[in-house]
Amino acid sequence: MTPTDMSEYGPNWPQIVAQIRARSKNACEWCGARHGHPHPRTGSIVVLTTAHVYDRRKLAQDLDNLAHLCQRCHLGHDRGQHVQRWRYGVEPSGPPQQRLP
Ligand SMILES: [Zn+2]
Repeated sequence: MTPTDMSEYGPNWPQIVAQIRARSKNACEWCGARHGHPHPRTGSIVVLTTAHVYDRRKLAQDLDNLAHLCQRCHLGHDRGQHVQRWRYGVEPSGPPQQRLP
């Protein structure tokens, strides 16, 4: 995984992440794995990150579009996107990725 340039997410991103973290109570919103604890399936220490679920543009920051996910769920979610791009040469849904100036 490469470091992410947080400036691409806009000035409100830290507050949005704080809201997502409060909502998830520091557990993966898809599988329930607890942040900082060994994952029940993989055994690796869980590090929760915020994923874009439906609209993958970085600035699509409606709370309904975001989920606090463990590495396993986040990777599985992103893998679907990578496979579709590889197979069909297109994004799975929604408009093309927004490029910021
Ligand atoms: Zn998970």
